[in-house]
Amino acid sequence: KASIMWFRRDLRLTDNRALHAAMQKSDQVIFIFIIDPKQIQNNASVNQSAFFASVLHFKETLAKNNITLLIQTGPVIDVVTEIKTKVPSVSDIYLNFDERGYGRKRDQQTIRHLSQELGIVAHPFLDFTLTSASSIKKQDGSAYQIFTPYYKKWLSVQKDQPLPSLTSTEIQDKQVAEPFEDHIDDLKKLINPNHSYAYQDSLGEQQAVNTLEDFVSNKLADYDQNRDIPALDGTSHLSRYLRTGEISIRTVYDAVSRQPASLGKETFIKELCWRDFYNMIYTIYPNQKDQAINTKFQTIPWINNESQFNAWKNGTTGFPIIDAAMQQLNQTGWLHNRLRMIVASFLTKDLLINWTWGEQYFQEKLVDYDPASNIGGWQWAASTGTDSVPYFRIFNPFTQAEKFDPDAKFIKQYIPALADLPADKIHHIDRLSEADQQQYQVILGKDYPKPIVDHALARKRAIASYKNLNA
Ligand code: FAD
Repeated sequence: KASIMWFRRDLRLTDNRALHAAMQKSDQVIFIFIIDPKQIQNNASVNQSAFFASVLHFKETLAKNNITLLIQTGPVIDVVTEIKTKVPSVSDIYLNFDERGYGRKRDQQTIRHLSQELGIVAHPFLDFTLTSASSIKKQDGSAYQIFTPYYKKWLSVQKDQPLPSLTSTEIQDKQVAEPFEDHIDDLKKLINPNHSYAYQDSLGEQQAVNTLEDFVSNKLADYDQNRDIPALDGTSHLSRYLRTGEISIRTVYDAVSRQPASLGKETFIKELCWRDFYNMIYTIYPNQKDQAINTKFQTIPWINNESQFNAWKNGTTGFPIIDAAMQQLNQTGWLHNRLRMIVASFLTKDLLINWTWGEQYFQEKLVDYDPASNIGGWQWAASTGTDSVPYFRIFNPFTQAEKFDPDAKFIKQYIPALADLPADKIHHIDRLSEADQQQYQVILGKDYPKPIVDHALARKRAIASYKNLNA
């Protein structure tokens, strides 16, 4: 019998649950990727360009091995109907299921329609996380809301092993020779060449495996110490591949768990647990993209000053760590985790700008954009989530910079105007004297912006706004 393997956020041949099952259970398999016009964002989205560049790379890599990935455009039902007209023996479709957010509902509807309208049996697999959202529950069967008890339970759950690799020949033998129209031009149109800086050197399954190996050999043991220092670049950079599925989470977990015990290993595995945690939270609060989970904080009196929002986006706030971070995001499509926390705290607490604005901006700019982790991270920073910091804990951008970028190495890398200013002066730039401005040729308001808010006052203002709602 013939089946369709519907690739989505799982752009790989290795350790792919749906693909494995399709290969085992079918005589012929048609590989497709569907562009659904309803899901297309605007052309400014770096995240979208990067994702579709990965799809194109996947298609081209498969083609080199005589394997066809068909690019189709349109609603899933229409695409599958057309394939079935051309290959009537198609009876099944294999996919890795989206278990959270709007994707879950969409997938459930699609599976129902395929069965009711076309008689096609769908085989959905959970492949995106180490543990499914429903597998980790409290003793009374309810969902965890707080990370630490969830993490303890998560650690005790057995994780699945990666699946054995498929060979190209196994796959080639099951390819369908039928000529289909391929919509590769539609795919190419979704890749804005202006965004190539964010992905050009990092596409594909092989590159993902190299990144994992490099991390495990060279960075894992010291991950606990280096992960918070942006200038050291001590993190794995695997997020982009986990987002596209160019690497499987089981492969990552397996490679790390085989390493000797270390604090680095323990800390890294805990981060993988955060990913599962936010995935789980997103399944229980599918509307969290627009709404504070904590109902107490649904009516924060945001100020939402547009020109301050633009300064934040463009990295012209006059706070060096914020500005350098936003340059990293705008110039590379990736942002260090510590800096995501600092800029998110600054936007929501110092500027009192609605966290959904920041979440949306990250969605456009991050190559690793994942709704569950992004919304989770933003609601954590805005103290509106389930497991949030207390609202009165507000990052001070100057002390954060002093602690995590003590020599201002990272700041100087992204803000050339501050290259000659000593680190201790950068960390207190709001107090830079006239004489220092002359000596180092950094005239505030000319060579580098004056701070757009007074942090101490902004902090008090935020606490007052939150406190009223918390009463
Ligand atoms: P590493 O430190 O090497 O971590 C390894 C993996 O663990 C990551 O690839 C990621 O899959 C997972 N992970 C690590 N930290 C977290 C976390 N706090 N929450 C969930 N998973 C985590 N991560 C995304 O993948 N996509 C996003 O859109 C995203 N948006 C964020 C927004 C905010 C405001 C914050 C505070 C965090 C966000 N994160 C997001 C989490 C984290 O910042 C990134 O996963 C991490 O920086 C990616 O770099 P890395 O792969 O080198 O991470």
